[in-house]
Amino acid sequence: MSNIESILTENRLFEPSDKIKNTVAIDENQLAEMYAKASNDHVGFWSDLAKEKLNWTKPFTVGLDESNAPHYKWFTDGELNVSYNCIDRHLETKSDKKAIIFEGDQGDVQTYTYKELHDQVCRFANTLTAQGIEKGDRVIIYMPMIPQAVIAMQACARIGAIHSVVFGGFSAEALRDRIENANAKLVITTNGSRRGGKTIPLKGAVDDALEKGCDHVKRVIVYRRTDDEVNMQEGRDIDWLEAEAGMSNYHEAVPVNAEHPLFLLYTSGSTGTPKGVQHSSGGYLLNAHLTNEWMFDLNDNDVFWCTADVGWITGHTYVAYGPLSVGATIVMFEGVPTYPDAGRFWQVCQDHGVTVFYTAPTAIRALMKFGGDLPNQYDLTKLRLLGTVGEPINPEAWMWYHDVIGRGECPIIDTWWQTETGAHMIAPFPITPLKPGSCTKPLPGIEAAILDEEGNELGRGEGGLLVIKKPWPSMIRNVWGDDERYKSTYFPLKDVPYYVVGDSAYQDKDGYFWILGRVDDVLNVSGHRLGTMEIESALVSHVKVAEAAIVGRPHDIKGEAVAAFVVLNVDIPKGDARNVLIAELREHVSKEIGPIAKPDDILFGTNLPKTRSGKIMRRLLRSIAKGEEITQDTSSLEDPSILEQFQKKK
Ligand code: ATP
Ligand code: MG
Repeated sequence: MSNIESILTENRLFEPSDKIKNTVAIDENQLAEMYAKASNDHVGFWSDLAKEKLNWTKPFTVGLDESNAPHYKWFTDGELNVSYNCIDRHLETKSDKKAIIFEGDQGDVQTYTYKELHDQVCRFANTLTAQGIEKGDRVIIYMPMIPQAVIAMQACARIGAIHSVVFGGFSAEALRDRIENANAKLVITTNGSRRGGKTIPLKGAVDDALEKGCDHVKRVIVYRRTDDEVNMQEGRDIDWLEAEAGMSNYHEAVPVNAEHPLFLLYTSGSTGTPKGVQHSSGGYLLNAHLTNEWMFDLNDNDVFWCTADVGWITGHTYVAYGPLSVGATIVMFEGVPTYPDAGRFWQVCQDHGVTVFYTAPTAIRALMKFGGDLPNQYDLTKLRLLGTVGEPINPEAWMWYHDVIGRGECPIIDTWWQTETGAHMIAPFPITPLKPGSCTKPLPGIEAAILDEEGNELGRGEGGLLVIKKPWPSMIRNVWGDDERYKSTYFPLKDVPYYVVGDSAYQDKDGYFWILGRVDDVLNVSGHRLGTMEIESALVSHVKVAEAAIVGRPHDIKGEAVAAFVVLNVDIPKGDARNVLIAELREHVSKEIGPIAKPDDILFGTNLPKTRSGKIMRRLLRSIAKGEEITQDTSSLEDPSILEQFQKKK
């Protein structure tokens, strides 16, 4: 790829405050030492940490096994249990410490100490065994954000069963695809969930999914979250509480090989059909543990709230596993950010004394629309670190998060990673000087580079394919049952064994990484390469724009034209006023980036089509921009009616 023509004009630098420098666990010297050690001895660096941070029932002697590359294996002759590492090992010193603080949609609160969590997980592990689930069996977890979801995951890990959490908002069809692909034996679900003041049924989707085929599913365990009646199929379905009645609180965690699959997780499908990403036990837990320490500096006084659903990788690594492995207190929240009003997140932060808060740019932008008055009504002074994940964060949203939520004092930890990477890859430590919109630098032990399409490494300032040059412990092990897809998707380069991320990025003169978006999101307008994210940021910096998505559409002369889908902070204007605003926005982009980036089409809607994890479904927007009929699967969309809004305006 050639030079990026329009580099973000962002050059603000935010140094960590003295308070941060003096209080966080990892200072500049330690960080420099880690980088030095990692670059001198890559495998030794990770192996020493694996010995130091995790409890092994059988110590490993092999660090990295490359014999079946690109299926890399780590700590191959070691054995451990992930649930033991997340719970049991804390009991001696932290049995009365809160592990989970749960707030339901209606404001109901439940807490579990480490001891209580241990007893509950053991009971459920015994239940799973009593229901015939054995090590290596696949278990689907289709549940809302309630503690029982984490309990079910931990119980699977405890007996060596491989879970696959399917997001509770997915349709019966999406659920069936995943049940079939994983060839699961058991489904764990609830009768329903509560979101935004409503009761939402869940079990019906399981019944529909299992209607045809899926004979491999022998049991469905149903936790009753709501008072609603639930259809139970004789001989197949069993109530959670009945199933665990009489089960012991004692359970000996089953040691598994470091490479034993801990879980499968299907990617969000923003780019194609979801892939069943297979993760390991030892390597995965190591990076999950470390990044909770490194990026979030979690210690004994922290209350950590990651708002991600357990249906996504973020809810695995930063809710169900990583923070527990370090012995932290986590918050889980069942509801939505806008119920009963758009101050809900800030109320939860205040009421539970959240110190480290981790959410997605889409949530920040949505809440930013309501202004600073709402957050200012709550006491957010306990917050000390703020994180973001999921998409590039535009500088506008970064600044709002930093100034309004973080009082200008909390570092913004912008974490770049993927389902496949298992844990953070490029992200700041709390002491890293920050640039709004950049995820800063690769972690120690992670070697990232930017390549052109021929596989040549590019210099600073040049945009291209982001790759990871060396294997790391929490990397994807396989696409479940599809070796070929694993190799062709992630290791497509002929002569270099690099992991190809699928995102494009560039490194600035200081070595900071800027993610430009998916590889197929870079537009080529009259021979100029433009990152969609930059045009989006430019639009969002206009006072009337809340959110924007840019896609390309074929254009006879320019090659590609720029199509903008825009959500406003104000009512969508009609007639002449609409044309005036369109002209104003085009001019604004021209001023911010250059005339080449001016959107050719601007369409307004009340929201953008997003997956339930909050990612913009650009493949659908591309079809709309081209004027095509939508034929793709839209079952993972949060609100399918949004598409019609944009289509009608064409
Ligand atoms: P699929 O692979 O099925 O298309 P997906 O890529 O959306 O789904 P995830 O693994 O949840 O599924 O998302 C990872 C992607 O999200 C990254 O490849 C990147 O494009 C984007 N991303 C995540 N965090 C950041 C971040 N901090 N900055 C920029 N982009 C990010
Ligand atoms: Mg992806």
